[in-house]
Amino acid sequence: MGDNKFNRRKFLFTTSIAGIGATVIPSWACAESNRIASINGEEFSYTQQPLSYAYAELEPVIDAMTMEIHYSKHASAYAKNLADAVKAENVDTGKVSLTALMNNIGNYSVKMRNNGGGHYNHEFFWKSMKAPSDSNTHGDKLLQLLVKDFGSVDAFKNQFADAAKNRFGSGWAWLVKTNEGKLVVGSTPNQDNPLMNISDLKGIPLLGLDVWEHAYYLKYQNRRADYISAWWKVVNWDVVESRLIK
Ligand code: MN
Repeated sequence: MGDNKFNRRKFLFTTSIAGIGATVIPSWACAESNRIASINGEEFSYTQQPLSYAYAELEPVIDAMTMEIHYSKHASAYAKNLADAVKAENVDTGKVSLTALMNNIGNYSVKMRNNGGGHYNHEFFWKSMKAPSDSNTHGDKLLQLLVKDFGSVDAFKNQFADAAKNRFGSGWAWLVKTNEGKLVVGSTPNQDNPLMNISDLKGIPLLGLDVWEHAYYLKYQNRRADYISAWWKVVNWDVVESRLIK
């Protein structure tokens, strides 16, 4: 971890000049307090957490069987394999938060990278969704930022959908806030994510979409584009907005 005091000072300086306030404290800046191991107060545990909705509640956008298999088999396997890797590589989970592990993932094994990312990404994904509604929309604060950085909400959605469609093979599409305070869209391969120090796309994740086939194949088969366009109905914009700096 190196010199935490130095890192914290440097980080706070960086954020203050970027004008994005001090409520974003990356976990590596507060390693002495693992319980704050989160961004903007959103906590991420090393263990799989219960869903806040039933498997069937995201229907018809995501079918119940996909949700059940995705959560109880795929995501649960990432959590289990992460626990194995953490043990094998002597990570003190009382001191190193999950997000700190992501920030430093280049120092660990491929197993840690794949399963740590897999676990974090899915926990993040579940929290980003809710039961569909026709009036599902974002708040004013997010709206302003989307318009500022993309031109319009539709332009943002098109860019995000393109990132999700064009990710070859398995991976994720993301909306992130960069260290410079700008919202950008991109994608990562496999189970990588924008918190990882080895990722080309870096920033604070605000929204992420799983485009692995296991996330949509039962209902959408080869029609990834249909899954992506339907998915907007289940995005929990309140949660996305809560991930912005307060
Ligand atoms: Mn998945």
